[in-house]
This record gives sequence, structure tokens and C-alpha cells, in this order.
Amino acid sequence: MQIEAVGKPLPAPRLALAEWQHQAPINKVTNQGKKKEDERARISLEVPSPAMGPADPAPTRPTGGTAAAPSPSPPSSSLIFLGTGCSGALPDARCLIQPSTPPCAVCSTALSLPPARNPNYRCNTSLLIDCCNNNGTHKYILVDVGKTFREQALRWFVHHKVPSIDSIILTHEHADAVLGLDDVWVALPSSQRNDSNRVPIFLTQFTLNSVAARFPNLGDVDKPFVASELEFLPLPVMHGEDYVCLGFLFGRKARVAYLSDVSRILPRTEHAISKSGAGQLDLLILETNRLHGAGDAHSCHLTLSQSLDAVKRICPKKALLIGMNHEFEHHRENQILAEWSCREGIPVQLAHDGLRIFIDL
Ligand SMILES: [Zn+2]
Ligand SMILES: [Zn+2]
Repeated sequence: MQIEAVGKPLPAPRLALAEWQHQAPINKVTNQGKKKEDERARISLEVPSPAMGPADPAPTRPTGGTAAAPSPSPPSSSLIFLGTGCSGALPDARCLIQPSTPPCAVCSTALSLPPARNPNYRCNTSLLIDCCNNNGTHKYILVDVGKTFREQALRWFVHHKVPSIDSIILTHEHADAVLGLDDVWVALPSSQRNDSNRVPIFLTQFTLNSVAARFPNLGDVDKPFVASELEFLPLPVMHGEDYVCLGFLFGRKARVAYLSDVSRILPRTEHAISKSGAGQLDLLILETNRLHGAGDAHSCHLTLSQSLDAVKRICPKKALLIGMNHEFEHHRENQILAEWSCREGIPVQLAHDGLRIFIDL
């Protein structure tokens, strides 16, 4: 079923499950039953804000969390922000090719600082979920594989010692979410780099139809779905008024919602993730694309004021913002957000590429 994006009510997007493979037949994977766990984990979300200086090689750890162990496999789940930028990624090439007077301060720093030490250097939005299961094994679930995937894998898979990915989830079919699929084989387990093994890809039928033209050999299943032993509930959101994108709710203990490309949050999605609805989130990861303005009917993204309004309505325990364009200066905006957080009682900060949050999923 395709998502017909015009008119109301919107049809529920149907999730498809595909298998990423080169020159191999489709192999369906069935969903697993839903596990209900009332226990809610607590997370410590002290967002490290990289100074414009040496990179901090140590990932953030929760205080009072599970026991620590040396890398590469700490006995805790975590979220790694592989990318926190807009579709064009930062620096905005236009600011360097055709510099304004004065030049764009945010994009200019890309020339003077290594990306790993520069939170204003942002690749396409992408999240890696490092899910630690009860037996201590880790599964790695990749949400979106955009144009900048190769660069993100080279930088952050190495830095955080991520050995491989076990499944892929696509929020929608725009280039900044899918065009890295051609490079994804570099992150497959070495045992799966042949045509007899496959990595499952979860996506809507609409996305499947689009992606299949560029990346053939894809199949389908329904929602909700289990990826690498972690259950995901799709959260349809408007990404422009004629286009539906998926966010996801996941976590058996901590509840995390990820909304990477959104101009308007649909009522049923907002209910599913709101404190006043189905229950308070431990962490909301939400797009904010533009710093200025109030947005308009033609916008495909949220502005900062719209994102903060949504945070207040949803009322998560904590929120991290992603998808920022070059209007956002990381340290300046985080200072302003810290003041907002004090006022409103909800900690909100900008995420940055390479950020790792340990959380009990
Ligand atoms: Zn710029
Ligand atoms: Zn998009």
C-alpha cells in the first residue's frame, strides 16, 4: 500500500521489510511478538559539548548505570548520533563556494577545525542504536543511510568501535536518508558480505517503491516490527503537507522517540509519545531545521520555536535536537537552550555528530 499523502485521514503507513543484498533473492523475515515490560529505565543524559579543541575520545556514561567495561563492547545500550545536520549537510557548500560578506561564521569554521572537533560540522541525520541484550551481546541498528554515510561510518564506527550493523531502518526515501545504501556493505559483518546472507531493512511501502528502482531486490512486511531483537513502533509525521515520513518509538525499558524529518506531528503520533497521552518519553530526539522564523504551510521542517513548542507539549524527560542548518552555532544555541531548559524544566540540547548517549533500552 502506498502512502497517499494528500487528504485526511492519512492512511497508516505500512512498513516493509527488505533485505539489503547484492545480487541475491528476497528472504523474508517475520516479526516477533511484542514484549511488554513495565520497568522503565532511567538514563543519564549529560550531553558532552565538544569544545573547539581536542576531541573527547571518551563516550558519555550514565551515572549509576550498568557496570562499565572497556571498549569496544560496554555492557550497556547506547545511542550514537552519526549525523545531526540538514539534507545538504554542514558546512553548507554554498557558504564556501560563494561566501557572503561577512562570511557565514558557522560554515567558515569547517575550514579551520577538524570535523571531529567541530560540532558545527554536521552530516545527514542518522542514528545508530547499540542495543545490548540480556546475554550481553550487542546488536547495531542503523536509522537512515544518507548521502554522507560513508564519511560517517569512517569517522564514528571507528571512533566508537562499532564492528558492524545488524539491521537498517529508513524513515523515508529522500536522498539524505537513503543514498548511502550503496556504501552500506562496508559495515556489514564480514560473514554477510556474500549473497547468501542479508541485512534486513525496514521501510514503508512508499519508500520501498522509490528505493527499489535504485536498489533492487527488496521485499515487505507489516508494522510494528522487530529489528535485531528490538521492537519499533512507526510514528508517521508530516514532512511537508503532502508527504509522510516515519519516526520511531523504541525501547523496552527507556522509551525513546526519534523524529528526524518533520514539519507537523500528527495527533495520533503525538499521543503515542506524550506524557499526557501514552506515557512520558525518557528521551525525545527531534528535528529542528531552522533557527529563525515560525515556519509556514510550505515548510518541510520544524523551526526551533516549533520544535520547542513540540517539546513542551510532548513533555519528555529529556530532548535532543538534530537536523540543524548553518544558522545554528552549536555552543551559542546550546547556551540559549540551557536557559530555556531551566525555565521550562525539560533539559533540551543540540546533539552533535559522534555524540554517544548510554541508555538502558
Ligand atoms: Zn553557512
Ligand atoms: Zn526528507
